[in-house]
Formats: sequence, C-alpha cells, structure tokens
Amino acid sequence: MSASSKIIRTTCPYCGTGCGVKATVSASGGVHISGDEKHPANFGRLCIKGATLAETLTLNERLLHPRIFDKRASWSEALAMVAGRFREAIQTYGPSSVAFYVSGQMLTEDYYVANKLMKGYIGSANIDTNSRLCMASTVAGHKRAFGADIVPNVYEDLELSDLVVLVGSNLAWCHPVLFHRLENAKAARPEMRVVNVDPRRTATSEISDLQLSIAPGSDVALFLGLLRHLDRSGKCDASYVALHTHGFDDALAIADSWDVASVAKATGIEEASLQRFYELYAENERVVTVYSQGVNQSICGTDKVNAILNCHLATGRIGKPGAGPFSVTGQPNAMGGREVGGLANQLACHMELHDPRHQDIVRRYWRSPTIATKPGLKAVDLFKAVSDRTIKALWIIGTNPADSLPDADSVKAALASCPFVVVSDVVERTDTSEFAHVLLPARAWGEKDGTVTNSERRISRQRPLRQAPGDTMPDWWSICRVAKLMGYSRGFDYGGPHDIFREYAGLSGHLNNGSRDFDISDYDDISQRDYDSLSPFQWPRRKGSFLSRRSERFFANGGFFTPDGRARFIVTPFHPPKKRNAGLFTLNTGRIRDQWHTMTRTGVAPSLSRHIVEPFVEIHPADARALDILPASLARLSNAHGSVILRALVTDRQRRGSLFAPIHWTQQNSSCGRIDALVGANTDPISGQPNSKGAFVGIEPW
Ligand code: SF4
Repeated sequence: MSASSKIIRTTCPYCGTGCGVKATVSASGGVHISGDEKHPANFGRLCIKGATLAETLTLNERLLHPRIFDKRASWSEALAMVAGRFREAIQTYGPSSVAFYVSGQMLTEDYYVANKLMKGYIGSANIDTNSRLCMASTVAGHKRAFGADIVPNVYEDLELSDLVVLVGSNLAWCHPVLFHRLENAKAARPEMRVVNVDPRRTATSEISDLQLSIAPGSDVALFLGLLRHLDRSGKCDASYVALHTHGFDDALAIADSWDVASVAKATGIEEASLQRFYELYAENERVVTVYSQGVNQSICGTDKVNAILNCHLATGRIGKPGAGPFSVTGQPNAMGGREVGGLANQLACHMELHDPRHQDIVRRYWRSPTIATKPGLKAVDLFKAVSDRTIKALWIIGTNPADSLPDADSVKAALASCPFVVVSDVVERTDTSEFAHVLLPARAWGEKDGTVTNSERRISRQRPLRQAPGDTMPDWWSICRVAKLMGYSRGFDYGGPHDIFREYAGLSGHLNNGSRDFDISDYDDISQRDYDSLSPFQWPRRKGSFLSRRSERFFANGGFFTPDGRARFIVTPFHPPKKRNAGLFTLNTGRIRDQWHTMTRTGVAPSLSRHIVEPFVEIHPADARALDILPASLARLSNAHGSVILRALVTDRQRRGSLFAPIHWTQQNSSCGRIDALVGANTDPISGQPNSKGAFVGIEPW
C-alpha cells in the first residue's frame, strides 16, 4: 500500500453472509478490494461477487439526477411533487391510499426512517419490502415457536457441528463464504456429516454425504417422520421439553402416522436414504439445520419452518455450540429490515403492531401524531391493491418488482395504472423505473453510509469509499425531506446516519429492562466518531454490556419470548402439493453463483458475466428426450401467466417432472428470460411469502 492510499473497512452488499470488505483507495481514486481479515463473518475471505466489487463502481447506466416525467429536474422540484401527491392522496382517500415498497438492500438507517414516516406519521402500515420474498416464513415460524423473531445461533456453530442438514439451500452458490467455512470444517474433521435436502443436486451436493432429492413441497412430511423417529428412538430430551416448551404431545400426535414408508411415498426419497438421515440426526447431539429459500418460498413455508424447529426443540438441540436451526437470509440487510419493522405486519425494534402498549411506546418515543394499529398490505397484496387502484401513490426504493415479484406481467400492468409512482434507484433504466412519474437518484454501494445486519445478527458498517456522483443522495435524506414537505416539521431532523442509529438504539432499549430480545441500547448515546469507527457486533447489546464480546446464543436454557418463557411446538399437518396436470412441470426458481437479483450491479462486472452468460432451464434427460428438447437448444416455457424462451440445460441433477430457472434476467438485460412472469401470485397464508418454487409450466422446443 502506498503512503497516499487509505483503507476503508466496509461490508459486501450482496448475500446475507455479510462479509467484511477492505477497500484500498489510492490517491487517484482507484479501488482495490480484499476481504477484511478482522471481520468475524469471513475472516478475510470473499467470493467472486465480493472480490469483484471494484468492477461495479462505474457510472455506466447510473441515474445521476432526479427526473419528472422522464425530464431532468431539481431535487426541490422532484421532492415537492412527491410530497404534494402523497399529501393529496392521503387527504382525499386516507392514509391507506399510499404505500412504500422497499428493499433488503437498503441500509438500516434508511429503512428506519421510511418505517417511521409511514407508521408513525402517515399512520398506515402500508410499507412492505422485497424481504417478504426472502424470509417472511422464517419470521412467522420464529414468532410462532419462540415468541420473537430470533436466529438462535452463530456462524461458528456450523464449524462446531457434527451434522449439518441443509434444507432448500444451495449454500455453495448463494452464501459462498459460509459454504467455504463449512467445507474447511469438514476437511479438518472428516467425521463431520453433511446432508443436503434439495429437489436437485447442486454445487452444495459436492460436499454432502447424503443427498435427499426431495419432491418439491414435501419437506413437512420429511420432518414429521424425523420427529416420530426421534421419539421412537428415545432421542427426545424429556427434561428440556418439560421445562422449556409447550405442545409436544400435540405435535407428536400428528407425526405419529409418518413411518419411513409413508415419508418415502410423500417425498419420493428411497427408504434406505431416509433411514440413514434419521439415524444420523438421532445419533449426533450437535446438529445444525441450515435452511433458506427452498423452505421459505412456499405455500406452506411457515409450516416447513416450524416442522424443522419442532425437531430441534424436541431434542433440546438449540442455542448450544454446534446445535440449532439456522435460517440464512438472502439479502445483505434482510435482518436489519426485520429489526426496524420494515415488514407491513411489524412495528419497530421487534415490537408488535397489534399491542397497544407497544403502539404507545413507539408513538411517544417518536413523538409522532399518530401510529399504525393494524397490519398493512404484504408485498403481493400491496401490488394487487395498486392494480385495483386502492393505492393512489406508491414509492418504490431500491428494488425492481416489475421483475422480481410473482406474476410479474400483472405487476407491470398495475404500475402502469397507478396514478403516481416514485422510484428511488441507482440505475436509470429498469423494468420498474419505466413506470415512474418521479425518479430519484440514490447512492450506491461505495457511496452509502450506514449499517446492515447479517444472518447471524451481526451489525456491520457500510462506509463510503468515494465521492457520490451527480446529484445522488442517500435514501434517508430524501425520505426525511419528503416528510418535512408533507408538513411533519419535527421527527425528521437528522444530522446524518449516526443520529438515526442513535435514536433507533434508544428505541430498542425501551421495552427491555434486560429481558427483551432485540436490544442495542448500549449505543443510544453513540457519538459520530464512535459510529464512524464502529466494529461489527452481534445483538443483543444491552445498555452497559460493552465489555461482553462473546458470541451470544439464545435458548440453550429456555428463556423464550412467549408470555410464560416457554417455546411452542406447532402442529404442522402435511398437505400434499396440488397435483400437476399431465404435461406440466414444477418450476423451481433461484440464484446462480455470479449474479445478483436483477443484475443492475453484477451485470456491469465483466468477470461475473463469464460464468453463465444467458438464462437457461435445467431439465432431466428423460423429460428432454420425451419432448424432443435437445441439449443447448431453445425451449419455450409457458402457462396462463406468460411465457419465456430459455436455453435447455439437460442434466440428471434435475428431478424428473421438475425444472429450474434463474431469477436474474429481465426485459432490460434479455428479451426472453423474465422467469417471475410465470410464477403465480400464490402466498403462504401465514407469512404472505410467495410460492416462488412451485409454479406449474409447460415446456416445448422453440
Ligand atoms: Fe459478499 Fe456473500 Fe460473497 Fe460474502 S459470500 S463476499 S457477503 S456475496
């Protein structure tokens, strides 16, 4: 490093692993990226997406100035129009006529003020986030079982475990650094076992001792069978169950009919493999179950989560070194969004919308004129309300719903019919910005300043590396300016993100008295200097706990956040997925290794485009043969929602009757690969999370 270079420690903006990044910025402005060896999520390692972040620091495609009706405008003109149109809608149609649709890419401070404006000042809870598509079923499952949305464990538990069960998670591609930690641990302790539960074999299968290629949607049956096996083999922890839980007998009664033969029939997994899995789980005290979108993105996602949690509660294998259920989030700040209350059914700092005491605490703390008292519209319903014109003004921040929401063509039609759409983004042209009446230029990674929370509850700083270009501004700034222009003269006067963080930390301490779950009140008086130099830390960080630097696990000795402090077993009956009509396939959607969401950032990095250059569909050789689909030929996928043309990847990694296609391609970057145009807008009735892995489609040569 030359004398004139400086090192800035920041956080990767992609997956929920939340790796620390070291950016070395030279005097000429050149940026060299390396992993931050001091960051406890990655200890210096980065995957290719993180390592190539410097390639994404380009001004190509950037939105640099506000635009009104596609003409350049000043910030004051644009913000006056946003505030005026929102105010007008509220005055004429009431607070529920406006909505925000935000993102797990936003920093916590941006998220906090968006939530504050909508819930505490406008007085509606119509703010939801693309994190609804990512982990809402886990939030609902945690709350049902634990009484609060808590990830009980920490990353090192994967390394301490004797058995890691991966469910619906291609960890090798979607959380690569976490996968490397697991890979290294297994290399160091070859006796460690890994079981991969996934309808298809993936890069993650390569380190698995046992692959369970499960029929889509049958996970609940698999874990009911496991609960029964644990009980029959005497592996349930009677003392933990008696002291710390309720409802075991009811959960077990439902599981009782699930012998291995019934599970094999429901899941399509052969009996010998099931038996081996159940025995491995029973034999190993230190078991971590890692689960992700294959569990969450389902019509019964919340039940799948609780079926997994039930097995950990029954054995008392939770919150202990090397043992526990572990949800890994997709986005860099999906967890931060959960914490600030960025979902339409939460308040802030894990407080509840329906609880008058919580409403009162938040309203007094915010000194706000009103407070939302009932849940707002969850993502899919929110866009249905846009479609039926109930929503008159919509502000979309840092996300691209015209591609990423299910039934994406209907979302486009809804946006086209909405009287007023504002989009805050870093790039000018996306499939969503096409419908914006006002476009606001936001700051990108490398310019943003704030915090994010990763999958193990670790809060880290994202720091700016370079001067922000053009007229770009932080999201918190534009939200606060709009709030003031709407007439909310106090409550939005912040000197910077540190001020917002300090206020947020103060709110988190209000209910606590040392016993509540989300608590970072130790930072309620943090100075700007300390905020600027803040090291990554895990919550809770209660007032006065600054000396404790240990990784904290929850629930090893009970202490759940239900009224009586006991966890709840949830009865999760198995409902088989709807039967496909002859000729249709079950479509699984997901990520590839080197791209991110709708490619607005990774798409500009040449090194990332070398891995996979075009959208594709995976199909089993026998299915391809039966349909005359040749390897590498083009195939058309269609259903009542729409159609796409994709390159056929014929592979026996895929189950017969199922297809897989990636989510990244859009109208902007390909004319034919918008896969969410085929996914129906069906959701889990509890979590509101879409069934993004269960659409039925036809496929034919093109
Ligand atoms: Fe970034 Fe995730 Fe890769 Fe880490 S594993 S460098 S957080 S994309």
